[in-house]
Amino acid sequence: MTPTIHRARWIMTEPGRWLENGRVVVQENRILEVGGIGASTNKDGRIIDHGDGILMPALVNAHTHMTLSEHARSHAVKGFIPWVQTLITERNRQSPEDAERTVRSGATALKNTGTGLAGEFGPHVPVAMALKTLRIQATVWIECLGNDRDLPALPEDTRTIRHAYGGHAPHTTSPDLLKRLQAADTHLGQRFCLHLAESREEMTFLQEGKGDWADFMTRMGIDFSNWDCFGKRPVEMALERGLLDQNTLAIHLLEINAREMEQFAETGAHVCICPRSNWMLHRKLPNIEAFLELGIQPALGTDSLASVPTLSLFDEMRFIHDHYSDLSPDVILGFGTINGARALGCPDMGSLRPENRSAMIHVDLDVNNPKQAAEALVSVENLVLHPIF
Ligand SMILES: [Zn+2]
Repeated sequence: MTPTIHRARWIMTEPGRWLENGRVVVQENRILEVGGIGASTNKDGRIIDHGDGILMPALVNAHTHMTLSEHARSHAVKGFIPWVQTLITERNRQSPEDAERTVRSGATALKNTGTGLAGEFGPHVPVAMALKTLRIQATVWIECLGNDRDLPALPEDTRTIRHAYGGHAPHTTSPDLLKRLQAADTHLGQRFCLHLAESREEMTFLQEGKGDWADFMTRMGIDFSNWDCFGKRPVEMALERGLLDQNTLAIHLLEINAREMEQFAETGAHVCICPRSNWMLHRKLPNIEAFLELGIQPALGTDSLASVPTLSLFDEMRFIHDHYSDLSPDVILGFGTINGARALGCPDMGSLRPENRSAMIHVDLDVNNPKQAAEALVSVENLVLHPIF
């Protein structure tokens, strides 16, 4: 097959690394070469000149729930438990056709806003087909919660979609089930993913074994009387249970103290932050600077339309740019590209290097240098972009 040579005024091979008037040579969905226009090449091929603007890696949205629609979002102001209650009611009402429509529209939104790799977390519905059709790669975690039990069968993997078990969270899922899911994912060679330390409700439930969340669980018919996890903070419990290691992806980590963060860093576990969702639901933001100081490189996720207005990772990065004045555009772009690829265990995504997958986007921006380009990518609203994958 003849290679295709993509040319553009600016190429961001990864955050902080730029080529002016560069090109990316692609063959059968893999990158053969990346270089400046003047560099020698022995590759002939079809040339696609994208003109001005920026060619960069497709984004990595490391945490989504495509089955959730925007209907519950207006309930977020009523508090965390009423919001969860609304989600459950919505889910019970949703017909398979509605679920499929919601997933298709979510996947389209991901593609149109430049996401080429996603971490999807949700119930057992066929999201893989929607993602595959749009050529979005993904790990799909089948959400499990409640008490320990036999695990459901996983859907079949495809070349680009991998399935694994997701433990919902310590305040919804027994510690024994979390351990079992982690073991199953390790056996499968997939990341184990769980929500961790997201809310005050989760904290109170774990520390005291009672309170509003405990009452809610009782109303939902989940018997937690045998859960051997109380009297601990969420991260403390996860550390003690060995739930955090290099194969774990923890979502949120909003309620984490300095000591826990140090211990988390030592485990080598990955974290995905979802700042817009945290702000909407909890009026609190993750301590990103503290993560970075300890060498933890967060991935970035939007969470679902039930807690954010869009599934655009560019919107998520712009929100970070607006709320964290100490973080440089390059660091923020790292969250949405290379860090996400590492967190999802896909090192051949998130950067434009030879042998990587050729998932790219072209962003239509008129900029004069890399500094201006990086700044524009995290600050300009409604970017015009074209997925090349
Ligand atoms: Zn989530």
